[in-house]
Amino acid sequence: MVKIVMDAGHGLPTPGKRSPDGEQEWEFNNQVVMACIAKLQSFEGIEVLRVDDPTGKRDVPLQERTDRANRWQADIYVAVHHNANSGTWGNWSGIETYTYDHPQANPKSVELARLVHPRIVRAMGLADRGLKRANLHVLRETSMPAILTEGGFMDSTIDILVMRSAARLQAQGEAIAEGLAAYFGLRERPGGEGEGELPDSYEKDAPPSEWLAQEFQEAVNLGITNGTYPRRPATREEVAVMIMRAMRRLREEWSSGDKPG
Ligand SMILES: [Zn+2]
Repeated sequence: MVKIVMDAGHGLPTPGKRSPDGEQEWEFNNQVVMACIAKLQSFEGIEVLRVDDPTGKRDVPLQERTDRANRWQADIYVAVHHNANSGTWGNWSGIETYTYDHPQANPKSVELARLVHPRIVRAMGLADRGLKRANLHVLRETSMPAILTEGGFMDSTIDILVMRSAARLQAQGEAIAEGLAAYFGLRERPGGEGEGELPDSYEKDAPPSEWLAQEFQEAVNLGITNGTYPRRPATREEVAVMIMRAMRRLREEWSSGDKPG
């Protein structure tokens, strides 16, 4: 089991932490975290612990968050935030991802950030401000690789337009989940989003089953089938075409005087 801690940052009562129009940061963070957790459910072998208050009512102290993560022995810690610059509207813009700024910082954090950050940039379609380092509580006090994402500026006239889109926040959450899946090499659950994927034996150039290989090759030689996808189920129309080809082949042999056999 891979143990993932998600932290949507702050809470609704936290002073500041809102756009100049009064939109609260936790609301943005929460939408991203919920989408991330939902997407993570499509992968096998994961457990998620959320360390902020999922109702947003309480601003869980940072020490409490990191203590829980450490006690649970999480494999990674992901804090989801949205940025602010001056608190009044401006045209700054873009995505940042933070890891702990310390010579002894876990290098796995940067590895994780490298997988998650570009996916957030793509999902939001905003400027890439790059990976950053900072001495932040959740990065410093966690005993596992930890990142803190800033998915756009709440006080940016550019970013806020994207952040007000539920679809973009969902895409941001899914992007984080996909970064985590890449980091851990997670496999999609059968019946999840991977449903519809075909087994290897269904490949175009897969070898035919051994016990049918000879007849199959003869059918190819006779032009009844072209030899591709030997082990995929056939549709009725494909079967009909193969029967018609075989019949045509027989007629040709008869009319040329050869006896079939
Ligand atoms: Zn924040």
